[in-house]
Amino acid sequence: MAKSEFYLYDEMLSRAKAKLPQTTGSEVLFSVPKADVWISGSRTEIRNFLDLCDVIDRKPEHMLKYLNRELATPGNMDGPRLILKGKIGPNQVNQRISDYVKEFVLCPACGRHETVLLKEDRVTIMKCNACGAQNSVRAIA
Ligand SMILES: [Zn+2]
Repeated sequence: MAKSEFYLYDEMLSRAKAKLPQTTGSEVLFSVPKADVWISGSRTEIRNFLDLCDVIDRKPEHMLKYLNRELATPGNMDGPRLILKGKIGPNQVNQRISDYVKEFVLCPACGRHETVLLKEDRVTIMKCNACGAQNSVRAIA
């Protein structure tokens, strides 16, 4: 009798273990959705711009400044969209966004994306909420 109780407990234990999620630790990859790029006439729209900023948790104004500078074209926001002057291919837009994420979102120390940008005097610091690292980042004026 005692023996069957033991087996029951053992079975419950292994079931409980099986329910635990497969932990991947810090290996979780941060995936940024692809920009929904639409070229219309002589302008380029990123239709999910605000969504993208939401996912990476950065201010749309900051990424807008970055894109203006890196793509060397002016742009402005229109609702959830970003409208850029000129025709810019989706590959180029996605490449710039991925560069932005590498430079301003991912922690250089641990590679995670739980970071915030803080302004200290004239320096912008990226602070990582996962490992606590603080690194200065380029200012986008
Ligand atoms: Zn970190």
